[in-house]
Amino acid sequence: MNIILLGPPGAGKGTQARLLVEKRDMVQLSTGDMLRDARTSGTEMGKVVAEVMDKGHLVTDEIVIGLIREKLESGKAGGGYIFDGFPRTLAQADALGSLLSELGQKLDRVVEMQVDDEALVARITARSTCGNCGEVYNDNTKPIPADHVCSSCGKKAEFKRRADDNADSLKTRLLAYYKQTSPLIGYYYAKGRLTSIDGLASMAKVEASMAAALDA
Ligand code: AMP
Repeated sequence: MNIILLGPPGAGKGTQARLLVEKRDMVQLSTGDMLRDARTSGTEMGKVVAEVMDKGHLVTDEIVIGLIREKLESGKAGGGYIFDGFPRTLAQADALGSLLSELGQKLDRVVEMQVDDEALVARITARSTCGNCGEVYNDNTKPIPADHVCSSCGKKAEFKRRADDNADSLKTRLLAYYKQTSPLIGYYYAKGRLTSIDGLASMAKVEASMAAALDA
């Protein structure tokens, strides 16, 4: 099954995607991760992307659609794709629909993770990830282990904070979400694909709501 995880930055899309990869053998396609890889590549495109991302703006549709096209055309779907952070505009949503149908596939479900802004700011400004496996930590709820051994991969790791996880960039990212991405909620509702869940519930509850949304 192919699904989209929709929600503002910090809603927990990445964390849920990682769980679905483990439990359902799905393939996570995160445009944010792809763009972070691109920016370390040293190419002209990487430099442009870095500047746009750090300010909290959206990268052009052309670039992200190109990245997704490449993955879909060369990739292995396993238990299906999880689109994480893509699409973020109506043009991207249309392009995804066309790409999937070109490949004889379809979109099964869009799960909107609802979280209020105050919680997002608190989550994002406190988050860091394991440089080895990407496990997400939070200064308040799940601090980095004192010995720097990641609880998920068991390796001694560097724990990284994202360059765009700061209050200024977050403001722009939230605005971009409400202006450019939230119209997708209506778009997928009208297509009968949307399920909304409470992204602020406990981890176990969010996981259960996600499972219920996918198995409905
Ligand atoms: P994320 O990791 O999903 O929070 O994305 C981090 C940043 O990458 C965003 O703030 C955007 O600058 C850029 N980005 C990620 N996905 C997209 C997308 N689908 N369209 C445009 N920009 C994106």
